[in-house]
Amino acid sequence: MKLLAGCPNCGRTLELSLSAADRRVACPACGRKFKVPTLEDLQKALSVADAAKGAVYVDENGNVYG
Ligand SMILES: [Zn+2]
Repeated sequence: MKLLAGCPNCGRTLELSLSAADRRVACPACGRKFKVPTLEDLQKALSVADAAKGAVYVDENGNVYG
């Protein structure tokens, strides 16, 4: 399963591993740091992830999209 996060500053999509959950990551394009939701939050998206063929999109507010 891929974890995708959109940079809130420049909008670039970052591909993360699940180990990035609940941590701050830095955007490689602009350097902006932002928060990745916790695994607990991500659990809610697992069924969505199935529908999305293995990729989950998250934002820094903990919202999860398939
Ligand atoms: Zn960025």
